Amino acid sequence: MEKKAIVIGAGLAGSLWSIYLAKAGYKVTVYERRKNIRDVEISAGKSINLALSTRGWKALEGAGIKQEVEEIAIPMPGRMMHSVDGELTFQPYGQEGQAIYSVSRGHLNAIMMNLAEEKGNANIFYEHKCVGVNLEEGKVTIQNTQTKEVFEDEADVVFGADGAFSSVRYKGFQKTNRFDYLQDFIDDGYKELLLPANEDGSYKLEKNALHIWPRGRFMLIALPNEDGSFTCTLFMPFEGENSFETLTTDEKVDQFFKDTFPDFYAIMPNLIENWHAHPLSSLCIIRCYPWTKGKTALLGDACHATVPFYGQGMNASFEDCTVLNDLMIKHNENWKEVFKEYQETRKKDGDALQDLSLHNYYVMRDYVADPTFLFQKKIEAKLSGKYPDEWMPLYSQVTFSHIPYSKAWEVGQKQDEIMKKAIEVHGLSDEKKIEDEALLSIRK
Ligand SMILES: Cc1cc2nc3c(=O)[nH]c(=O)nc-3n(C[C@H](O)[C@H](O)[C@H](O)COP(=O)(O)OP(=O)(O)OC[C@H]3O[C@@H](n4cnc5c(N)ncnc54)[C@H](O)[C@@H]3O)c2cc1C
Repeated sequence: MEKKAIVIGAGLAGSLWSIYLAKAGYKVTVYERRKNIRDVEISAGKSINLALSTRGWKALEGAGIKQEVEEIAIPMPGRMMHSVDGELTFQPYGQEGQAIYSVSRGHLNAIMMNLAEEKGNANIFYEHKCVGVNLEEGKVTIQNTQTKEVFEDEADVVFGADGAFSSVRYKGFQKTNRFDYLQDFIDDGYKELLLPANEDGSYKLEKNALHIWPRGRFMLIALPNEDGSFTCTLFMPFEGENSFETLTTDEKVDQFFKDTFPDFYAIMPNLIENWHAHPLSSLCIIRCYPWTKGKTALLGDACHATVPFYGQGMNASFEDCTVLNDLMIKHNENWKEVFKEYQETRKKDGDALQDLSLHNYYVMRDYVADPTFLFQKKIEAKLSGKYPDEWMPLYSQVTFSHIPYSKAWEVGQKQDEIMKKAIEVHGLSDEKKIEDEALLSIRK
């Protein structure tokens, strides 16, 4: 008997999960609302790049595509902080040899789509939008957005990998009794700018770093692209002092950048043109439960969309694929068992990921230039260098390990409490005493 699976959404999670399903012998049909992104020219500024880290790499390796992605990934071993007076400070993210990687969303997506179709057993139908779903029976209603034809399809299992505003969730799960749902837009939005390469193709900023211009309530960040450009993102509140609503004229935008990010302003050509070229977008957290029902499951942003401040949304979505694949093997494709364990074990990690993402927003925005924070980080790095099995900084647990997000968040909060207490008692000078005390407390 042929095994059939339907995946709604050929974004990051859907494309990767299709490869896993195809490898497991499923005939996979993928319905994607957008045009085939491989036919559309992707300009670096249009499609944002993403920070890929350890959890993401593991899932790519499991699907056999790590090598292809390595070819397009730019290592960023640390953050480069830009102060208002142009001073640069480099803060490594982890130990020697550890890095996060900048990858182009479009390029990464295209690699996975190619693999799913060429090497796997998957068919991707573009400009096909899911407009209805029967969760129990594994049936979907699809509209061909070109011809307007509407038809039904069904499979043994259906996956909603259709992003934060998932139709599978909205048309299916949200109509069921006792479905919990929370959608929380944060006060801040974002706008992208493309910092082009120099004429000779070289980078205008250090290539191997994630650049941050922290300015308290708002910040600018920049990640390198393969072509020498940087995709820069300004995160700022929609309303209030220093907000998007205050930048009402080209003159105000120009003056704002000149005063606030002077070193960036000096190298950024066509700032105003760029400002208008990209939309102002919002950011939200979506929590829901259950994630599965009948023959249908949600994965990726569809069930745990988060704000991007830990650079983990895609990594977590990829980790969903690792978790689902492990369970598929463990339960010998008994999907009832797979779905039960998937949602029961993974939901708390989705919640923790969202808490962590918000936490890191405050860290990036308010603390990365704070002397006490930097002192604490220095001691934590020392401790983790000397006692790697006993003290791993929260950032490393999230970014460079496979420790479940919920566990990382729990341990991270405990470590933070211990450090803060020790610093309060010994001040910012007595490093040795703080180290000893922190170690003693974590061992208790
Ligand atoms: C500004 C920003 C920066 C980010 N940076 C990072 C980062 O550095 N690192 C990181 O790990 N994560 C990052 N993320 C998060 C990351 O983008 C998401 O977590 C990731 O895209 C989720 O993948 P997904 O496949 O679940 O959803 P998506 O990538 O959104 O894919 C969903 C797909 O479903 C399709 N679709 C939607 N509705 C339908 C429908 N009705 N029928 C058919 N198809 C449909 C969409 O067209 C899309 O192709 C960032 C997010 C933002 C907004």
